Amino acid sequence: MAVYNPKSLKAEEFINDAEIKETLQYAEENKNNIELIDKILEKARPKKTENGCRAAGLTHREASVLLACDIPEKVEQIYKIAEEIKLAFYGNRIVMFAPLYLSNYCVNGCVYCPYHLKNKHIARKKLTQEEVKNEVIALQDMGHKRLAIEAGEDPVNNPIEYILECIKTIYSVNHKNGAIRRVNVNIAATTVENYRKLKDAGIGTYILFQETYHKESYLKLHPTGPKHDYDYHTEAMDRAMEGGIDDVGLGVLFGLELYKYEFAGLIMHAEHLEAVHGVGPHTISVPRIKKADDIDPESFDNSISDEIFAKITACIRLAVPYTGMIISTRESEEVRGKLLNLGVSQISGASRTSVGGYSEEERPHDTEQFDVSDQRTLDEVVNWLMKKGHIPSFCTACYREGRTGDRFMSLCKNGQILNCCHPNALMTLTEFLVDYASEETKIRGFKMIDDELEKIPNPKVRAIARENIENIKKSNRRDFRF
Ligand code: SAM
Repeated sequence: MAVYNPKSLKAEEFINDAEIKETLQYAEENKNNIELIDKILEKARPKKTENGCRAAGLTHREASVLLACDIPEKVEQIYKIAEEIKLAFYGNRIVMFAPLYLSNYCVNGCVYCPYHLKNKHIARKKLTQEEVKNEVIALQDMGHKRLAIEAGEDPVNNPIEYILECIKTIYSVNHKNGAIRRVNVNIAATTVENYRKLKDAGIGTYILFQETYHKESYLKLHPTGPKHDYDYHTEAMDRAMEGGIDDVGLGVLFGLELYKYEFAGLIMHAEHLEAVHGVGPHTISVPRIKKADDIDPESFDNSISDEIFAKITACIRLAVPYTGMIISTRESEEVRGKLLNLGVSQISGASRTSVGGYSEEERPHDTEQFDVSDQRTLDEVVNWLMKKGHIPSFCTACYREGRTGDRFMSLCKNGQILNCCHPNALMTLTEFLVDYASEETKIRGFKMIDDELEKIPNPKVRAIARENIENIKKSNRRDFRF
């Protein structure tokens, strides 16, 4: 039997079934242990230090106890600390992005995904480079600067060369004042050599959802195709890091397995990356199964309520305070609104999940990867965020300034966010307002920028940010950053 070892490079040792089961039992036994719960909450709370703020994070066992705890007063405290951590490390900024679907050709048999090989109802489509260009122009015309590219797994139709060519095309398009400055990549697990090629192509984060950490379920949910190989899939992030990619994004598709099991697995995966590579995941995504062609979410019996979903999000925030958290348009405006206060730091806006969807006048449904719940325009989402007191940020500076991996984490830990990320958010928001926003959004946005500029502690940085913002308003000069 495999023995738990976070430093091991073997999937069954760092995501260890016996350890997860013991963790769940420990959490169940201690879910009403107020003394222990208070100790864990105290550990999670962010603390002021000489040069900023620190949060200790939690182990998978500690975080699992909090997730199991149903005492209303304690759950409220979890939510409160999640918000404190979010504000301490990410401020009130929310980073914006959009997914771009390149191809729905897929040789896998994932039973929850409409792209599965046996689905004969959907038209298979792969963008030509001309079509990629048109999609990028449409995304730039909305104001997007950061994309996550998505593709099915098909070595013949979507080989790595195709993905690399698309990345090159995306970065080459400059329509009016538009530019895609960061391309994150969500494609199937691959080799170290291919990860190196992605790194050389200038990608931001490599994202790969584990789907489920439960091996037995995983094998059933991925009955055919290369994705069936649980170990190869689970060890992908180690290969990505070996290939030089500093920023990796984890995720679980909630609804496939019991959420407490998934949660423990997810935190163990983060601990493993930290133990082996000295840096945890850059982001964690929290997708839930949605209706799609040939897919009925009701047929999966582990679906979770909005309340449990909120609790999971908050507990992730406490466990890995320096990891960005992403929520997609799979979720409704209401759910997204609630989670923004519990630690989410990145959201997508105006997403179209079909191949070629952005170039179409109407949102096409026939090849969608999942039903989009939040169907608002980017301008509407930006306006809504500001109304709720969040600063929509189109910043991509960190990775372009080489602040990836542990260098990004140290920025976070050393309290430099207000002198760096905050002005960058305000400058990129100015770009959005000047180039793409409606009148109503502009008025709200410029007022917010004026107020928020005052919060930059360093007077020199504040003056430069103010000057750059005036330059953006007056001229076509763009892309200022700290
Ligand atoms: N094909 C790649 C892979 O194998 O990892 C990644 C791209 S796939 C287009 C992106 C993600 O969408 C999957 O990892 C899965 O978690 C999610 N997904 C698939 N079907 C879904 C559904 N019905 N509802 C919500 N999300 C879904």
